[in-house]
Amino acid sequence: MPVAPLSWIEPLVGAERVVQVQSVLRAASDRLDGRTVWHVSDNPVRGGVAELLRSNLPYLAGGGILTRWTTLDAPPEFRQFTKALYYQLCGVTSPAPGTGPDADPERGRRLYERVCKEYAARLAASVGRHSVVVLHDHQTAGLVPHLREAGCTVVWRAHIGAALRPELAAPAWDFLTRYLTSAHRHIASYPGVLPAGLAGAGSHIVPPSIDPLSPKNLSLQPGIDPSRLLAAAGLIQDSTASVPGSHAFNGLLLRHPVLIVRDGGPVPARAPLVTQVSRWDRVKDIPGVIRGFAEHVDAAFGAHLLLVGPNTTGDRQAQQVFEECRAARSALGSRRERVHLVQVPTDNPAEHALTINAIQRRSTVLVQKSLAEGFGLTVSEAAWKGRPVVAAPVGGIRQQIEHGTTGLLLSGPRDLPGFGAAVNRLLASPRYADELGRGGRERVLRHFLTDSNVLGIANVLSDAAQIR
Ligand code: UDP
Repeated sequence: MPVAPLSWIEPLVGAERVVQVQSVLRAASDRLDGRTVWHVSDNPVRGGVAELLRSNLPYLAGGGILTRWTTLDAPPEFRQFTKALYYQLCGVTSPAPGTGPDADPERGRRLYERVCKEYAARLAASVGRHSVVVLHDHQTAGLVPHLREAGCTVVWRAHIGAALRPELAAPAWDFLTRYLTSAHRHIASYPGVLPAGLAGAGSHIVPPSIDPLSPKNLSLQPGIDPSRLLAAAGLIQDSTASVPGSHAFNGLLLRHPVLIVRDGGPVPARAPLVTQVSRWDRVKDIPGVIRGFAEHVDAAFGAHLLLVGPNTTGDRQAQQVFEECRAARSALGSRRERVHLVQVPTDNPAEHALTINAIQRRSTVLVQKSLAEGFGLTVSEAAWKGRPVVAAPVGGIRQQIEHGTTGLLLSGPRDLPGFGAAVNRLLASPRYADELGRGGRERVLRHFLTDSNVLGIANVLSDAAQIR
């Protein structure tokens, strides 16, 4: 585990905040008394949980907490099942008949329990009896009883959010609750996520956060135009007419072109950009963004729409959603010319993150029109870069955006005319867009930078360390 001292972010958040977190970290480390804290999540690369752990765990390690992170190594049928479970937890019903927990509940439960049991047995052999294990999200819930039986202190953290229609999510929560009741502690990103039975005295609220020093969020060197990076990636016309190829910024090299579905060439150098950065997942409603843009954003602005996600190699479900997005784009006829589907390679995580960083900085408006959202790190990422955000009022997005001050919230996740009106307003008024961007950055600085999440987790670990 790489180690990062919190003092690195002191110039941004001030000494007082750093000293406070360091003292809570010391207390947690004393109480843990040499016990290792293991984190277990589903995926080491894609999505918000991976982003959060990759950027935050080094600060916990830097604060003296012995920290390890490992990820599930699950077969495709487990992934298919847990994806369907995820759609249910989000209140978006499973699109794949026969794969949801309610399709053949017994078969699904047997598969889930078998994989979790086998994985827990391997894990228990490595973690040791008295370790603290923090399990992340629904894929890991089935490990709880086994790790508890193995003598570990078990904390379960939900990164999923509250569903728009809780009645749709209830069966999935019932499914998980049978495992989760045996966890010693539960964490949610904000109140109202956990079902009543889990949200009692042993539960904590810890909002996620972004790392201002990660390649995803760090400032580009003064004078560096993000368009130059994106020209190197093949996304935007290079106004300086330099030779396309690799570009190095902040010590990172941008070498690999992104994969783009488009008609014609790169986005014109000066065109306004409306962008959504998200996994290829139905919860992100990318076809809805495409329609909202084509039908309701005034073409006179000459804006282009970028739908940006990780490359789908080896991820069948993401590839399926990508194909649905491609079909939604094709259905636009000639209006599709200003809509670009962009897959960014993930082989080199730092280069990937830098590309996303540059895309967010170059965008005129960032959108996050999800049907459900756990937290929505992309909202804080955009706001930290001073970009205005238009987003659906779902999940943790509501914690991040104060409507009209730090961004614009739609009346509902399917409000396409409202989506168009909000984007038009920001394209028409760069001054208002800047004002929201400044407000958003201020809010992220106060609530959603690394030290806030590290403080929250250190408090939970301090609490959990007392359990024997
Ligand atoms: N992300 C990325 N590359 C992509 C798409 C998304 O690095 O092509 C990152 C994004 O910047 C954010 C995370 O994945 O850090 C998504 O987290 P969020 O909480 O927004 O959504 P989740 O994927 O967890 O549902």
